[in-house]
Amino acid sequence: MQDRLQALKEEALLKIEQASDLKALQDVKVSYLGKKGPITEVLKGMGKLSPEERPVVGAYANEVRDAITSALESKVAELEQAVIEEKLKKESIDVTLPGRPVRQGNAHPLTAVIEEIEDLFLTMGFTVAEGPEVETDYYNFEALNLPKDHPARDMQDSFFITEDILLRTQTSPVQARTMEKHHGRGPVKIISPGKVYRRDDDDATHSHQFMQIEGLVVEENVRLSDLKGVLETFAKKMFGEDRKIRLRPSFFPFTEPSVEMDISCFKCGGKGCSICKHTGWIEILGAGMVHPNVLEMAGFDSKKYTGFAFGMGPERIAMLKYGIDDIRHFYTNDLRFLKQFKKA
Ligand SMILES: [Zn+2]
Repeated sequence: MQDRLQALKEEALLKIEQASDLKALQDVKVSYLGKKGPITEVLKGMGKLSPEERPVVGAYANEVRDAITSALESKVAELEQAVIEEKLKKESIDVTLPGRPVRQGNAHPLTAVIEEIEDLFLTMGFTVAEGPEVETDYYNFEALNLPKDHPARDMQDSFFITEDILLRTQTSPVQARTMEKHHGRGPVKIISPGKVYRRDDDDATHSHQFMQIEGLVVEENVRLSDLKGVLETFAKKMFGEDRKIRLRPSFFPFTEPSVEMDISCFKCGGKGCSICKHTGWIEILGAGMVHPNVLEMAGFDSKKYTGFAFGMGPERIAMLKYGIDDIRHFYTNDLRFLKQFKKA
């Protein structure tokens, strides 16, 4: 019986030694030390032994059991340690590897141009005003001297939501809303940047959604020469100190008189090139003295107050400034295009 136990012990210890994972050790434990294991079986036969042999065999059986148990425990510890070491090895950081570059984004060229224009007017004492893009017919048209059936409405084929609500076709409603808030008291001095919407067939120079920046000044004794001064400062700061400006008569329903402003071509200096269409001048924006009707509708006494307003397209400014040939580039999110404006 002792020989049998001796054999079982050696067999078990060998299997423990050869076990390569914790699962194999668990199997050894169950098969040798379990209730149905061979050692238990051997001990069941103790009854057949003489009273002298029993304690000897019993003690030896315990010795075998202890030997297997402690061999199991140390092998378990060894394997667990190996697992930890393996993990440490795998997860170690090689500090000599080159780092992954952090890719830095940049402002969208339109955002950059708008912020540049905003900063410029802020230094001249303007504040930035914003308003809703979903606008009422009243603020978008009527308060700006464009009553229903006014022919100039046709120039702004619009996205109507109901008969009285539409996507604003210009940022001018912000002017009307701001004037209203002043309750007939000046001065008003704002620029209003934002998106506007007009039904249009998109092409290289047209988009159904685009940006506008408008400016408005209302105060006593504001004159056309003040407008000219502000626009000239803008043109020089934006396109170069040696820019000249010229004002041409034009028509807008909400200003009287109305003008278009051209700047001398920054590419050819006035000699004529493809950018200025060989005229030496580039059209930049529309402006004029605020129509008395617009002032009155917003609660200002047009005998006491005068004002000027101007409006420009940031897309056009950016296209000219950066030589961009297609307005659609601004809205198609092509990174190859956008990444070119890292320093813009
Ligand atoms: Zn030119």
